Amino acid sequence: MESDPHTYQPSPKDSILLARADLIVINGLDFEKEIEKMIASSGFKGKLCKATDNIPYRKNPLDPHLWHDVKYAKIYVDNITIFLCAYDPKNKNLYQDNKQKFVQELDNLDQWIHQQFLTIPPDKRLVVTTHDAFWYFGKAYGIEFLSPVGISTDVEPSAKKIAGLITFIKKKKIKAVFVENLANQKLINQIIQETGLTLQGTLYADSLSNSQGSASTYENMMRHNTTIISQSLQKALS
Ligand code: ZN
Repeated sequence: MESDPHTYQPSPKDSILLARADLIVINGLDFEKEIEKMIASSGFKGKLCKATDNIPYRKNPLDPHLWHDVKYAKIYVDNITIFLCAYDPKNKNLYQDNKQKFVQELDNLDQWIHQQFLTIPPDKRLVVTTHDAFWYFGKAYGIEFLSPVGISTDVEPSAKKIAGLITFIKKKKIKAVFVENLANQKLINQIIQETGLTLQGTLYADSLSNSQGSASTYENMMRHNTTIISQSLQKALS
């Protein structure tokens, strides 16, 4: 089942799993807040890998959504590979070979994403989504994201903030409005009602789809998000 990592409440079963684990990989930067607390209290004696180590991150507000920039995803891969090689040196070559192949795929993906936005003028690249998860995507690929909800989904925005966003959408004639797979749709529905816009689709922000869905892997998720954003921006141009 898909759960929101920002607000996920670990169960007693999770605690048992954690205590038994040899290795745990986390995103870090407060993304899996409750899990981190549970790791500390579960008696976990294995090795912990923080995949975002050595990546320059947005500090104000603290923003954990680094994977939406593919060049940062490559650093995740690096960190996890180093971690696995240290843990299981016998299979070092295997991990390194797999890493090389995957990094090649990520390079192709990164290039492909850039290409999808080439024909859209920079001042027309405005997108509205549920929560502030796409800042790194925006920075990497030249898109500005606006959202009523902040970095974490556990804080409700003020009425004033929502009203301001609605005024901005009308003024800039923004058409690219999305919901996310996990976040609360109430606010986006309100925005749609008050602006008369149509929803352009579902972005995958903080978790993948199931294996049948359009965001079943990291690469599929990035392609899905990019495709629906660029199509909706293109449509708004014509
Ligand atoms: Zn998030």
